[in-house]
Amino acid sequence: MPKFYDVEYLPDGRIGRVVPTISGVPWRVSKHTVMDLDEWPYPKQPLVPLAETVHERMSVEIFRGCTRGCRFCQAGMITRPVRERSITGIGEMVERGLKATGFEEVGLLSLSSADHTEIADIAKGLADRYEEDKVGLSLPSTRVDAFNIDLANELTRNGRRSGLTFAPRAAASGSAR
Ligand code: SF4
Repeated sequence: MPKFYDVEYLPDGRIGRVVPTISGVPWRVSKHTVMDLDEWPYPKQPLVPLAETVHERMSVEIFRGCTRGCRFCQAGMITRPVRERSITGIGEMVERGLKATGFEEVGLLSLSSADHTEIADIAKGLADRYEEDKVGLSLPSTRVDAFNIDLANELTRNGRRSGLTFAPRAAASGSAR
């Protein structure tokens, strides 16, 4: 809440100190981290746009953080530690989200989705469950070295074209997601 703080600057432009403007506001704001993502299965009822959008899919965040620790990556640093949603939690979010939205595609999101320790079982389980409904699966952010043929087969098994976004890595590119 920027309005609760005044920033005082040093003559050389650096920040001298940050001062609360009202009583009861902490001088230092502590980071709060949700450790059990299964306790926070949100969004439960995502908005469905009336207009056609580029990514028409139900997005489910399957984990936060990243195991890779690339030194140039801000997202990998500020979302530590790695916290995974369980297969059960992901399955429930997908089921509830598809019912609430009518989407025909599910995006399994994270910073590097194929790095979920149970991604093979997640992909197989969802492909099994939605084979008849032709619901597509996509991995919008995937490291090439974490991908494999078995995963590709599960993502395309129901006959729908699947979305894959590979993330080539290069330290000079900043965030190369
Ligand atoms: S660049 Fe990608 S793989 Fe590396 S830490 Fe960031 S999110 Fe993880």
